[in-house]
Amino acid sequence: MKYISTRGDKTERSFSEILLEGLAPDGGLYMPDHYPRVSGFTIARWRTLPYNELAFEILRMFIDDIPADDLRALVDKTYTRQTFGSDAIVPLREIGEDLYIEALSNGPTLAFKDMAMQLLGNLFEYELGRRGEQLNILGATSGDTGSAAEYAMRGKQGVRVFMLSPHGRMSPFQQAQMFSLQDPNIHNIAIEGVFDDCQDIVKAASNDLEFKRRHKLGTVNSINWARLLAQVVYYFAGYFQATDSNAEKVSFAVPSGNFGNVCAGHVARMMGLPIRQLVVATNENDVLDEFFRTGTYRVRGGAETYETSSPSMDISKASNFERFVFDLLGRDSARIAELFGPGLAKQGGFTLTAEEAERIRLFGFVSGKSTHADRVETIRALWEERQDMIDPHTADGLKVGRELRERDVPMIVLETALPAKFAATIEEALGRQPTRPAALEGIEALPKRFTVMPADAAQVKDYIAAHTDPAGA
Ligand SMILES: *Cc1c(COP(=O)(O)O)cnc(C)c1O
Repeated sequence: MKYISTRGDKTERSFSEILLEGLAPDGGLYMPDHYPRVSGFTIARWRTLPYNELAFEILRMFIDDIPADDLRALVDKTYTRQTFGSDAIVPLREIGEDLYIEALSNGPTLAFKDMAMQLLGNLFEYELGRRGEQLNILGATSGDTGSAAEYAMRGKQGVRVFMLSPHGRMSPFQQAQMFSLQDPNIHNIAIEGVFDDCQDIVKAASNDLEFKRRHKLGTVNSINWARLLAQVVYYFAGYFQATDSNAEKVSFAVPSGNFGNVCAGHVARMMGLPIRQLVVATNENDVLDEFFRTGTYRVRGGAETYETSSPSMDISKASNFERFVFDLLGRDSARIAELFGPGLAKQGGFTLTAEEAERIRLFGFVSGKSTHADRVETIRALWEERQDMIDPHTADGLKVGRELRERDVPMIVLETALPAKFAATIEEALGRQPTRPAALEGIEALPKRFTVMPADAAQVKDYIAAHTDPAGA
């Protein structure tokens, strides 16, 4: 399997070459040069596999430059009951007729990002060890990515983490989770701005190729292909739990921000998993909903990016989205470079031709939007009906998934975080505090370790330079 850029750089790279990279040199995103198709026979065989073996089967189709035994060992070490709380790893629960929640949030940081990040930590350590190299991870987070990355990388040999987050915009619990880490290889930088400012700084530093090379910068943002790949596995696992045979189709409702999670669903569908609808659920930051309804992609600025009660979806331009548009437009990289290149910032967006927009339906995508009132009501209704407590992001997914579901097609809502992370909204909806895993009691009181900085790429680069060792020793 070879990897290419969405923007026309046709240099073929292997998985290990792109594993430690962020954007491709031409500013595009890495994509497999084709999707492996799995036959009905293979899907049937996979149906009974435990999660770790399923993950191995799927990953090996995209990773051919790590020996199979090593890959298997990495996967086995990652997807354990000890880390994810159950043998199913992503257990499915029924909350209504043909309506399910797939729990992706029982990892160390209580959000679905652990599903990919825990694997990434092990892949990084393996690859760096194999090369005898170091890596400095530079990332931007609106909450869940940062903590998942830090919990995956803490204490790992040869890895440092520099994580930018919007100052004061994460929940107290999220701040405590990240800022309480005392591991010397973890650096928290709170930026005076919004998430997109953080992301722009990451892009600015990564686009400075000389700086990037000298300081061995890498990324764990959702644009990392390995993360997306790890997420493909739970679409299969969810499908198997909700159906009895491959003759059935299911739909997924996915709380979406950066389009990473649902893009993995798109990949699963391209591989041949019988997915009917991929429901993109946004919050008040509805740039994706607007696109899927109208074919117009209109990037929002910081002032138009709302701070909502599902903060991990407070995104105004969705970084993985380019991957889907690449497939949508028949992998026409010249057109992608035109739509997503420098013109995007200048024009503030683009509109597909009617003919191009028509194709969206062929890929199963539909979308909807959920507001604060919707998520509070959804959390309350499910609690009253079933004593089942969900977090605000999952509530957005449930609200939109329920609205758009079709008769007789099972709908699987992806649970992207546990309610314990978002106490204020749970309190508002239910008049009580969420339950919290015992290990996380009282973390808000722990000492915090972080640095505040203005939204200025030059200052962030100086900080990185001062805390890394260019000699690589
Ligand atoms: C990151 C995140 C999302 C959005 O996922 P994307 O892959 O960025 O679309 C949704 N919910 C939670 C809880 C998250 O942490």
